[in-house]
Amino acid sequence: MQNITIAIDGFSSCGKSTLAKALAHKLNYKYIDTGAMYRAVTLYAIRHQWIDTEKNINETALIQALSEIELGFVNNPETHHSDITLNGENVEQEIRLMPVSSVVSKVSTIKEVREKMVALQRQMGKRKGVVMDGRDIGTNVFPKAELKLFMTADPEVRARRRADEYSSKGQYFSLDDIKHNLQQRDQEDLNRKENPLIKADDAVVLDNSDLSREQQLEFVLKLVSDLLLIRREPPLH
Ligand code: C5P
Repeated sequence: MQNITIAIDGFSSCGKSTLAKALAHKLNYKYIDTGAMYRAVTLYAIRHQWIDTEKNINETALIQALSEIELGFVNNPETHHSDITLNGENVEQEIRLMPVSSVVSKVSTIKEVREKMVALQRQMGKRKGVVMDGRDIGTNVFPKAELKLFMTADPEVRARRRADEYSSKGQYFSLDDIKHNLQQRDQEDLNRKENPLIKADDAVVLDNSDLSREQQLEFVLKLVSDLLLIRREPPLH
């Protein structure tokens, strides 16, 4: 089967990674969680105390240290998914916590950080056969991706899903706090200068407010098989 690139962009907590993982598993493709990469850089900055309580970032220090930050993905034998590593340390759990979530969008506005992440992402996806999710994959990282999805969902549904995700890990936040964090991240992602969150012209919009995981997967697998079918057809002349 011919390998393609699948780019999934959209708002925070829309279920992008859940769908991307299921798709990658089904197609035997590689899954790259680009949000995890920005989160790992943010964790590095937090650990070095380059972000204060007012969320001011010491950008100069972070930019200077970028060459020391090594990111990778390792297979987690329990979940069968890949976990992110920061300089060799598995930080998959820590990057999902509130201290990182509350400042990651700000760190993601830094041009030099984005340049490094985008270069890495292009390298990781250069052989195709990849499902990559994020905010600028279809518009910037792989503008020629064969399939682009733009995911959205009702803000209430998104907040509830994120709350469930937190509580399944024994973490409890009010729905209002979660909603506030999602709104804030969306606004920062939509309004930043460098590669903001926008729908690519040729992206298929997927509003999954009322769709089960299985329905979403089925919908996208149909798009993939239609696409592969068209690409296999001989030219008309
Ligand atoms: O996908 P996730 O919610 O984990 O992403 C965390 C943050 O990383 C986003 O809110 C966004 O600010 C940033 N991000 C980005 N570009 C990407 C992926 C994530 O700016 N391609």
